[in-house]
Amino acid sequence: MADVHDIETRSYNMSQIKGKDTKPEILVRKFLHAHGFRYSLHGKKLPGKPDLVLRKYNTIIDVRGCFWHLHAGCKYGDQVTTPSEKITSRRKTAVERDKVKIAEWKDAGWDVIVIWAECELEPKRKYSEKREVTLNNLLNKLKE
Ligand SMILES: [Zn+2]
Repeated sequence: MADVHDIETRSYNMSQIKGKDTKPEILVRKFLHAHGFRYSLHGKKLPGKPDLVLRKYNTIIDVRGCFWHLHAGCKYGDQVTTPSEKITSRRKTAVERDKVKIAEWKDAGWDVIVIWAECELEPKRKYSEKREVTLNNLLNKLKE
């Protein structure tokens, strides 16, 4: 059974490779919008085109897929291995890019909040307690 789940997870993650307007991102956007936050998407003037930019709060939100961005210690992240060298190297490249992006954003004075798409938002579930917690934490961080 575990294998079946892994395959499903993997194929789901594969479908997220383009990384723009993914379901997890849309969940975050809808939540923020419903709470009165306004943001811009894929800030083109900023390095790495961040997913969500909240200028008023000086904050960038980076929604990362656990699989592709090798979320550490995560059952959807670095605990999922693949025999494909191409995919493995792609994941490593993504992690390197993430480090550069975060450093650039922080250097430019932005606060950065990372949200892990699969384990923190559980996008495949209709209702997710983890998602509620994640989004409420996000709200609290923005209000700080
Ligand atoms: Zn994760």
